Amino acid sequence: MQSTMMNMPLNITSVMTFADKVYGDVEVVSVTADNPRHRYTYSDAFKRVRKLANALAKLGLKQSDVIGTLAWNDYRHLELYYAISCSGMVCHTVNPRLFDEQIEYIIDHAEDQWVFTDVAFVGTLERLQNLLPDVKGFVILTDEANMPKTSLRNAVCYETLIADEPETFDWPDLDENSASAICYTSGTTGHPKGVVYSHRSTILHCYASSLPDAFGLSRYDVTMPIVPMFHVNGWGLVYSAPMAGAKLVMPGPKMGDGEALAKLINEEGVTASAGVPTVWLALLQYLEKSGERVDGLERLTVGGSACPLSIFDAFRDKYDVTVQHAWGMTEMSPLGTYNRVADDAGETMSKADFDTARLRQGRPIYGVELRIVDEDGQELPWDGESSGAVQVRGPFITDHYHKREHSAAEDGWFETGDVAFMDKDSQMQITDRTKDVIKSGGEWISSIELENCAVDHPAIAEAAVIGVAHPKWTERPLLLAVVNEGAEISKEEMLHWFDGKVAKWWIPADCVFVSELPHTATGKLSKKDLRDEYQNFAWNDA
Ligand code: AMP
Repeated sequence: MQSTMMNMPLNITSVMTFADKVYGDVEVVSVTADNPRHRYTYSDAFKRVRKLANALAKLGLKQSDVIGTLAWNDYRHLELYYAISCSGMVCHTVNPRLFDEQIEYIIDHAEDQWVFTDVAFVGTLERLQNLLPDVKGFVILTDEANMPKTSLRNAVCYETLIADEPETFDWPDLDENSASAICYTSGTTGHPKGVVYSHRSTILHCYASSLPDAFGLSRYDVTMPIVPMFHVNGWGLVYSAPMAGAKLVMPGPKMGDGEALAKLINEEGVTASAGVPTVWLALLQYLEKSGERVDGLERLTVGGSACPLSIFDAFRDKYDVTVQHAWGMTEMSPLGTYNRVADDAGETMSKADFDTARLRQGRPIYGVELRIVDEDGQELPWDGESSGAVQVRGPFITDHYHKREHSAAEDGWFETGDVAFMDKDSQMQITDRTKDVIKSGGEWISSIELENCAVDHPAIAEAAVIGVAHPKWTERPLLLAVVNEGAEISKEEMLHWFDGKVAKWWIPADCVFVSELPHTATGKLSKKDLRDEYQNFAWNDA
């Protein structure tokens, strides 16, 4: 029997028309290179989106064409997100922190027709444009007063491009399974791989990630995504904020600037924000130095890398802000699990249990089916002990990569490359990346747990633990640590720090203090580089 329900496609156009009508007067505030505080409403935004859609059509662009963006989080990037996808074109957000060769590769691979860029990245594109003959032209995201001199071919100023366009646009009917956006993973080996999102996957991810035990957005929230819009659609918040009617604050190029973030939080009344641990460390350092507070801020979602306990504690104990841990990946749109520990858990649990609970990456969100399997592909129980490869499936998880025929999901399950166990409360604990696991004397050691423990030492700014070949134990963990400015710590002191905190045989066999650690373009530790560098490390006891 068929249902009696209307068959309406799930598409991003509906988010726009809904927010325009219902939450039209809610504010969108941005920092841009040409304006320290730009302010307008969703209604103003979508008016300019319609002007931009007319301009795209005038450039000769048509449905299924791919358009590149190299831009920070701000209102012009928001306009591009909606105008491109709702016109039936594909928004290809390019991570400007990638190496030149990778930027060239992904613009060419995705077949970008035009590229829209912030002024800050004009130089990068000038270096690369001759290698990208298929890009027809470049639009600079600024006004005439701030337009740089550039050799980019067919360079147009964004504000001039849209200035005289009509404020109405007849949006096309779109198949909900058609592509809306594309984002490339920034792995440390091989070429980046493209993940293509659909209108349907984007909407379903927004519904699921906005549930109360996930981002929990409402019209009473002011949300500031510090996760870049060039990486997995800014975790979908630029769609879910207008869907929920939440005010949107976007920090533009100031994402890593603690002082600017504190100012935005206090002056715009930000209640909820989301970002990688590094951003929160920058904010904490600023608050501690300046003595300022962020009293209106209620909760921070931390993901992208494991969040150290020191961040949870500092925000809770000193600033009364709840930190919530989340896990996901480009291939998952990105949210996979979310950990919303009860508000009063700190009072009802022992400190040790509370810490363990907060560090978990969380429960799968609705729409994400998750299982842990052993080396033979057998599913493991959720018993808090059995650790294995994490596999997922669901309507906002990719089946394969762009232009790669074979499915990335064996048996219909996508292999995440993460290793974890599930506890009896269905909370996931990531212990490693498949490629990063350390096996010592036949037993697994969690490099992430050791890194978390190391950065909990007040003298340590950042840490990485890698497995290095050892004649007796096959591999032993080696700690590489960056010491905080002005702090001092000896190797012995560092290694003793682990006593009683982890199993004795887990304690790193040696430690090297380094001035910095290598990172990927999305800010994750690049352990491959470290393994290459330290592969011949001479152990004292070998
Ligand atoms: P990306 O696709 O660049 O966002 O990277 C996804 C990967 O980041 C995941 O597969 C994990 O290895 C890692 N990751 C994301 N969130 C977390 C987290 N909360 N804890 C530990 N690792 C994480």
